[in-house]
Amino acid sequence: MGLILLVDMDYFFAACEESRHPELKSKPLVVGTAPVESKEHGVVQTCNYIAREFGIRSAISVANALKLNPNLVYVHSDESFYEQMSIKVMSIVRSYGLRMEALSIDEVAIEYNGDDYESAMELAKSIKERINGELKLPCTIGISTSKVYAKMVCDANKPDRIGMVKKDELLQFMHEKDVGTILGVGPKTRQRLEQIGVKTIYDLSRVDATTLLEMFGKFGGELRLIALGEDTSGVLDESEAISIGRERTIGDTSDISTIGKAIMELTDETFVELKKKNLRFGAVGAKVRYQDFSVRTRIKKLSKPSDSKELAYNTCMSLIESMLSGRKVRKVGIRLAGLEHSKGQKRL
Ligand SMILES: [Mg+2]
Repeated sequence: MGLILLVDMDYFFAACEESRHPELKSKPLVVGTAPVESKEHGVVQTCNYIAREFGIRSAISVANALKLNPNLVYVHSDESFYEQMSIKVMSIVRSYGLRMEALSIDEVAIEYNGDDYESAMELAKSIKERINGELKLPCTIGISTSKVYAKMVCDANKPDRIGMVKKDELLQFMHEKDVGTILGVGPKTRQRLEQIGVKTIYDLSRVDATTLLEMFGKFGGELRLIALGEDTSGVLDESEAISIGRERTIGDTSDISTIGKAIMELTDETFVELKKKNLRFGAVGAKVRYQDFSVRTRIKKLSKPSDSKELAYNTCMSLIESMLSGRKVRKVGIRLAGLEHSKGQKRL
């Protein structure tokens, strides 16, 4: 058995602003999507805990936040600065030399080999101290027996703490939790579970395997294991990635020809790597990041492996178009997965 540590930065964008402007720490602080001059037209991306005391939350409009507290301090989001800070967080974590997987800009899962809870706790303390000390950023770390559980433990301990739930404590810990707290359970899945009377993780553990498999396929089986405390989800280490891809910030646009041009260039770059490694791909993925920083990805499996650049480009573009629905995107990317070596390789 291994243990997973999940490090999640607290109110990340606002905390980055506090890190470079410590005087903001004592004030209700909101980071939003619109420039300062027209701030009320934007949305709250993140706010610090003082702002939360006034009922301000991410995803509400800044106009509403201002009604809740007219004296809040407003900062326009500075994506490139937060990305730099994220790189620093990840490199601190990477310096421990363990298998790790970045789950988002401010979240990373780490695999700790062995089942020694005390050593895992020492490791968490050390990582947290370095992130707090070197970057002046708060974070919460959850420790448990799988990635899904570590995430739940982390969420339950926010902010700025370390939490640990051992294997024999898992069922009790999860008992009354909403199924929506499970990593990967979105509003749709939650709604479908509610329709069969499932609200808590305990309820989920009482549903028979067949029902879950019929409703959700393979994911249903995973849900059942999660509810029973038997999940073993680990990290997918970056260095073992089984896909190659590129992404790029393109500014906020929904213009299909601008997006198409970027994807064409990214496809070219990806193919340089593909050809160098003499690979073919069995699936094409597309990624978009919207203005509010939320990210969507879609992947399409091909009927057979291919090395056609045109097919990669066209598939990626149709996936992106299906995710646009009039919204502006800030970043786009292509990913080729299901890689295998090309046949007909010249022999020496
Ligand atoms: Mg976070």
